Amino acid sequence: MQAGNVYYAEITVPERLDALLDDWDLLDDRVIKKLTTFKEIGENVVGVRRRMVTKDPVTVLDPVKGLLPESIEIGPSGLITQTHEILSLRITVGGAPHRVPHNFGFWHINDVDELYLTLPPPAPGEPAYFLVIMGNPKPSSNEGESWAQYCRECLTMLHEHYYKTAQFGMDGHWRANLAAIREYNSDVKFRTCPECGHVNPLAYVWNTAKDTPEERLARQEW
Ligand SMILES: [Zn+2]
Repeated sequence: MQAGNVYYAEITVPERLDALLDDWDLLDDRVIKKLTTFKEIGENVVGVRRRMVTKDPVTVLDPVKGLLPESIEIGPSGLITQTHEILSLRITVGGAPHRVPHNFGFWHINDVDELYLTLPPPAPGEPAYFLVIMGNPKPSSNEGESWAQYCRECLTMLHEHYYKTAQFGMDGHWRANLAAIREYNSDVKFRTCPECGHVNPLAYVWNTAKDTPEERLARQEW
């Protein structure tokens, strides 16, 4: 590969690259396999998921996690829901706590903006493409992210684990996230709201393969 093509330098496919350069496609299934979590590509971090998306009503069906009807943010005036219909572009600005029910059981607070783009399927009846794109914090920056828990009744913050992505990188992201979720789940006192007394459900990570039996039940619940 030429030195100038840094944006794809970290993705490999079995074919000879010179045979692919004319039709290189980020949405090709061979490439998506490398992007099903998140991949650092040049200045960005990119994830691509394939999901069935219908219109009227908008439903988003993940092959592993089932229905993911909406995403939720905590804004200045409370909870905000947003849907991800085909050809929609959504942005969660840096600092806004956000989550997707049944997809990840914590509130993600990212210093960088996150952009979500839903593209049509290659043919009718096939899964659509859901892209998550965000800036890749430079090592010299102070940027990071938090995995937080808020009371489901009164939105009091119950638990927060901060991870300095700029320093430790995406490589350590998943392990640190799992440790944060397991700490929160380890003692009911973390889940019990100090303001209203509500006992909140267990947290769970993004990857269903990591779920304990109890976390699998929590994933269905919220
Ligand atoms: Zn509460």
